[in-house]
Amino acid sequence: MNTEPDTQSENPEQAEAQWRSKKRVRSEVLKHRSRPHNRGLLLLLAFSSALLGLAVFDFISPTIAATANLVSIAIYAITAHVFSLNISSSSKPDALSAQTLKLAERLETLEDQSWEIRESEDIHRSASEAFGDVVIHRNGMGNITFSNSVFAKYFDDPSQLPDFQIGTFDETGANLVRDVEVVTKLGPRWFAWADLVIRDFDTGDSGTRSIGRDITERKQHEKLLETKAAEALQASDAKSRFLGMVSHEIRTPLSGILGMTKLLQDSKLTSTQSDHLQAIETSGQTLLTLIEDLLDQAQLETGHMIVSKSPTNLVRLVEDVCELLSDHARQKNITIASHVDARISDCVSLDGARLKQVLINLAGNALKFTDSGGVAIKVRLEKPDHKKNPTMCVSVKDSGPGIAPQDIEKIFNAFAQVDSGANRPHEGAGLGLAISQDIVGLMGGRIEVDSQLGEGTIFQFNLPLEPDDIVEPVEDKIDCVILAMPQTPARDAITQTAYQYCRKVITANSVENLDLIAATCPNNSVVIVDSAFDVSPQWVDDIRNALGQSTRVLCLEAARGETRDQGDGLYDGWLTWPVRSNSLKNALYNQLGQEPADTEKRQTKIDINMQSGKSLNILLAEDNPINTLLATSLLGKLGHRVTHAENGEKAYELFARNHPASSFDIVLMDLHMPVCDGTTSIRSIRKYESDMGLGKTPIVVLSADNQDVSQTNALDAGADDFLLKPLDFDDVTKILSNFSNDEIEISA
Ligand code: ADP
Repeated sequence: MNTEPDTQSENPEQAEAQWRSKKRVRSEVLKHRSRPHNRGLLLLLAFSSALLGLAVFDFISPTIAATANLVSIAIYAITAHVFSLNISSSSKPDALSAQTLKLAERLETLEDQSWEIRESEDIHRSASEAFGDVVIHRNGMGNITFSNSVFAKYFDDPSQLPDFQIGTFDETGANLVRDVEVVTKLGPRWFAWADLVIRDFDTGDSGTRSIGRDITERKQHEKLLETKAAEALQASDAKSRFLGMVSHEIRTPLSGILGMTKLLQDSKLTSTQSDHLQAIETSGQTLLTLIEDLLDQAQLETGHMIVSKSPTNLVRLVEDVCELLSDHARQKNITIASHVDARISDCVSLDGARLKQVLINLAGNALKFTDSGGVAIKVRLEKPDHKKNPTMCVSVKDSGPGIAPQDIEKIFNAFAQVDSGANRPHEGAGLGLAISQDIVGLMGGRIEVDSQLGEGTIFQFNLPLEPDDIVEPVEDKIDCVILAMPQTPARDAITQTAYQYCRKVITANSVENLDLIAATCPNNSVVIVDSAFDVSPQWVDDIRNALGQSTRVLCLEAARGETRDQGDGLYDGWLTWPVRSNSLKNALYNQLGQEPADTEKRQTKIDINMQSGKSLNILLAEDNPINTLLATSLLGKLGHRVTHAENGEKAYELFARNHPASSFDIVLMDLHMPVCDGTTSIRSIRKYESDMGLGKTPIVVLSADNQDVSQTNALDAGADDFLLKPLDFDDVTKILSNFSNDEIEISA
């Protein structure tokens, strides 16, 4: 392709002069209308004007040149016409002057159009030059027929120009502007470059117009930003790894402290010793929460936190959270309870561990800030008619101090607290809500707050459900239950649950007005009375007399066993805060003549002295001596036999050596160990089993490593379950019972 320019840039002054000369030619033509004898001169003028037009072609843009030529040809035609008319019919002067006038008018129109084109070109040129854009025009042969003054700033040699790329369009159909790096007089520069096809209307020839904008500075900024972003990502990854490592290193000794505290608490202690131990445990738990929050925050910042759905028993999850926080509630003399809509299935698909974490955060806060009344966790089905896209609304309500409107937005920021003064009465790093909001966001929801000072607070969020998560509740209902308990959010939750089993639920804020209760309730109702009312045996007798002797009176205790010394004869059964829905159901259904209510058959802290149904042969891989002591003590007390390996390699050797003569029932495997880590050891064990054609022995990881990726790796390597240190005795027992054939019965 020939890229030699045929001409230099247009000189505007020169073009202006040419134009003026043509203007003069036109006025000459007009003059000739009144002076027909001067035809020779007119013809000469027209001819020279045509020549001028041709000359202009090389000096100005092709469009203007073409227009100029057109004007000249028109002048020539007029002149020739006038001349011929004058020769052939000098006897018709009127017809002649009319035609001449017409042609003159036509000429004027052409002139005006030509001016407009020129003006428009001027505007475009000045605009492109004001933006500093390079503009060139090439004819069909590839020769540059026009270049603006900016072109000269960058290029001497047109071969430096980027290659044509005509006909490249983006998805919207617009001509593609591409970023190209070009070597220019000023050194390498970046241009946003576009090549457009231009068709000359007059000649029909096609050419190309290229426009290039210098974006070198923008490119430099982008590069700088990319480098900074990569550095920030690296730093953030390093921070995450550091936090992960620190978290693991802190968890390991903490696990020993908390575990040993638990073991000591089950020995004979004076009350002072017991108080001191409690203080150790509380401090340990606080430290643990802080570490977990920091680690979660780091994971969220780097996008390493993942949520994954799996079948989850929602009722159990919510009730477990209440159970976990119930000690705290008892210490504050307030209540906590939950309610899950019966239309939501027992088994919903969501990330149960993360939902639990959010609920512990929200309900933990609610308890922390509430001094009277209580807390309710509720899950209700939103828009139950929308079967295709069902949603559940999870809420945590408290009767605490409330939050001022101006503080509501800020509390979701990391480390933000309404009261952040040094003397604030409550513990906490201000991370819980920020983390919870992010987790709920990952699950497809958003936490909203509804609060007013002095009127308590509701935190709530919606989460998507699957259509299969909705069920039709089928329950027989008893007639009536009377809930005699102070009005709190927790009582609201129990009331809603009671409606699932009763046609009528009557709530009484006090036990004073027995007559009123008796008048409102049908005979033989079930009465559940809160132990906070401290009712007398006489009251119980009176209510039986009023409502019929088959009325069942149940006591709802703050702590289990609190009212048992009043004698079994007084009450027909007991329930304990926080009431599980199953316990309530059993208590109420007993009224229907079904099985006696097993109101106390709930799982509580494990009795350390109890023996499991089956003694398991356990292989424990653990490098930390304190954790080894802790685990062997616990497992020994549960009646299991433990073989210890101090690293992953030893664990594999022991596993292989023992097979098949005395195979292990279960392997408990730490992850981070010297010589050979847990994940490698699990892989080796699984390979050995497969090579030998053996069945899989359950492997449960016990680790202080809280990172999702570590858990995923361990499960991918072949582990069956993952328990986080410090070990929760209930969890260990549950897991062992899952993997042993005989059910382990826990009763306090
Ligand atoms: P932390 O509880 O560790 O301070 P959070 O992020 O969990 O951090 O909570 C941030 C702040 O929001 C709390 O310090 C408190 O001021 C306010 N807050 C959270 N929940 C409640 C609540 N239920 N009632 C009143 N204030 C609350």
